[in-house]
Amino acid sequence: MSIVTSTLGFPRIGPRRELKTALESHWAGKTDARALLDDAAALRTAAWARQQGAGVTHVPSSDFSLYDHVLDTSVMLGAIPSLYEWRGGPVSPETYFAMARGTRGRADGDLPALEMTKWFDTNYHYMVPEFAPGQAFTLASTKPIDEFLEAKALGVRTRPVVLGPVTYLLLGKSKDDALDPLSLLPGVLPVYAEVLRRLAGEGADWVQIDEPCLVLDLADAQRNALAHAYKVLAAAVPGLKLLLTTYFGGLDDNLDTALELPVAGLHLDLVRAPAQLDDVLSRAPAGLVLSFGVIDGRNVWQADLPAILDRIEPAVDRRGVERSMIGPSCSLLHVPIDLDLEAGLDPDLKSWLAFAVQKVDEIVTLGRAIDRGRADVADELEDSAAAAATRKASPKIHDGKVKARLDAVTPDMTRRAKPFAARRQLQRDRLGLPAFPTTTIGSFPQTEEVRKARAAHAKGTLGDAEYRDFLRKETKAAVRWQEDVGIDVLVHGEFERNDMVQYFGEQLSGYAFTKHGWVQSYGSRYVRPPVIFGDVSRPRPMTVEWSAYAQSLTGKPMKGMLTGPVTMLQWSFVRDDQPRERTCRQIALALRDEVVDLEKAGISIIQIDEPAFREGLPLRRTEWRPYLDWAVASFRLAACGVADATQIHTHMCYSEFNDIIDSIGAMDADVISIETARSKMELLDAFTNYRYPNDIGPGVYDIHTPRCPSVDEMTALLAKAAERLAPDQIWVNPDCGLKTRKWEEVRPALVNMVEAARRMRAASR
Ligand code: GLN
Ligand code: ZN
Repeated sequence: MSIVTSTLGFPRIGPRRELKTALESHWAGKTDARALLDDAAALRTAAWARQQGAGVTHVPSSDFSLYDHVLDTSVMLGAIPSLYEWRGGPVSPETYFAMARGTRGRADGDLPALEMTKWFDTNYHYMVPEFAPGQAFTLASTKPIDEFLEAKALGVRTRPVVLGPVTYLLLGKSKDDALDPLSLLPGVLPVYAEVLRRLAGEGADWVQIDEPCLVLDLADAQRNALAHAYKVLAAAVPGLKLLLTTYFGGLDDNLDTALELPVAGLHLDLVRAPAQLDDVLSRAPAGLVLSFGVIDGRNVWQADLPAILDRIEPAVDRRGVERSMIGPSCSLLHVPIDLDLEAGLDPDLKSWLAFAVQKVDEIVTLGRAIDRGRADVADELEDSAAAAATRKASPKIHDGKVKARLDAVTPDMTRRAKPFAARRQLQRDRLGLPAFPTTTIGSFPQTEEVRKARAAHAKGTLGDAEYRDFLRKETKAAVRWQEDVGIDVLVHGEFERNDMVQYFGEQLSGYAFTKHGWVQSYGSRYVRPPVIFGDVSRPRPMTVEWSAYAQSLTGKPMKGMLTGPVTMLQWSFVRDDQPRERTCRQIALALRDEVVDLEKAGISIIQIDEPAFREGLPLRRTEWRPYLDWAVASFRLAACGVADATQIHTHMCYSEFNDIIDSIGAMDADVISIETARSKMELLDAFTNYRYPNDIGPGVYDIHTPRCPSVDEMTALLAKAAERLAPDQIWVNPDCGLKTRKWEEVRPALVNMVEAARRMRAASR
């Protein structure tokens, strides 16, 4: 008997982003649905062949999705909101993509897409299921069965993956607040039972059923729902073996619930939560198969295989191979596909990394070591140990100066000299701004021309000097235009930036960038997160030249513009050999140098963007406090090197602050700008109980649509904000940066915004 190896799920996008190409040409009307489905099938075939060829025993199926697996589950269950006018029968690609992306320019009017939100604590976004009162469910798509059969026809016996019923319902929402999604469980279970029955009928032996909700804080009703659901499913398909998969954390107080479920196997994330292993081993029922998730599905580092074996061999011995499986911590969806494509990476760094393909090999190697002994894979283990050892000792990673500086950080470095009230006065005296000062969030439209120039410069067809002249011309025009319109605090426009994280990462030591390291963010949108591999420092100023140039063009204050330490961390692959917190503080120190240099260059206002601050919150409430403490401390470490008369701004692209408002206050930025226009200032509710102490710019212009808000509309929003905030606290600005908009849209909107501020001033005199 050999140990079962599995992958839980493989990236869907294709090594060369083939899925994106296929989707986008279909959406553009260049290819029909048949061609798209053929391309998708080819990607599945290749993924199965790749995994089977590598020696994986349980190859997944139905882990593929044209857009999103939660959307696939809604479609499987026939949970299709009435507005998409589905009338039963198979769900057409047209309906599927209408739910995914909305429709634009249809004769009968535009349909909105389903809402989209983050999948647990990843940067993957799923389409939120939307339930109506009296929601009915029916088997509307047989995707899991179809793809199982498709693989079977190719000679691959797969383990189908389905998103479990309880997690699925908990991810959903209803416009009717009184509707508890869990009350819909009796309706979805028969459909799940039908799917499982058919899979068993077609010869499936195991089915993987994902219930990552088991790593969250659960209420009793939710635990009871799990117990009920699995009792029903186990009874409905007695012969089929269910592997209940949990990931992104430990089971902790849900362990008993999980161990009582009548399933054949339980998957554990032993990367995020290694400590749970002992507990599980001592309490798991004798017959339960345990799947050990030991290869990191959320990060890009090569595993130290001998070290993993040291931990896992005793567990396998105790359990028996027939009751053990080896796999990644979670689906490999969240890592790039193939490191072999990265020809340009530093060879040392490359020798420390593993993407999905390499991780599959690691899993298979672990399986062989367990089955046939370590000697059978001696070379692989030796390579792995050697990589771990060189990484540990490499001067490319370890910078004594950075470590010493970090250790020498004192508490006063994270405090401004004077409290906010005193700083405010100093800053007002220095800046001389009117009441309701106007500003923008940083970027101006990234026009076709700007993007073309950047691409040409990257290719080498546009020289450094020419590119710089071009950017200067754009910046100057933006500055002139802001002056003409009458904006009070100007920005330079960020024309020189490709991306708010990449631009800084490329100038910091300790960061690396891949060429093909794409990871799905949502639908056909992929990101290429930087890799933070070593101690981070700033060899030289990063933005001072641009900010100083822009300031030289105007007598008005020019805001310096930086990406904050938490966002720099959150949107990167982070080293796993030291706590995230430590890496974050290193980034903060590097940014602190930049803040101080901007101040020295005469910049009187510096904005440090933290759009990812809230999404860094851990999944479990008990872990919130420590996170918030170091996140706030990192921001303050970056911000607090300046004199009290220098004004620090921050920006966040949301305002669901109710839970964390005290931490937002503790960041002690002199001014914060947040998103509030979309919700018509409702999100300011957080400020009814907590009086936000510093100044605040609740966005009055929703930049996510091309629509131009009127003066009346923005004045009304400001008046509404003035009910919750003191008028002399309020700044006037859009919701977010303007880079995705066109100048034709931005110009009239900002003209109106400036006028709205004037009206507020007049009214308050
Ligand atoms: N300064 C950035 C911009 O304007 C902020 C972007 C963001 O918050 N996501 O583009
Ligand atoms: Zn924003």
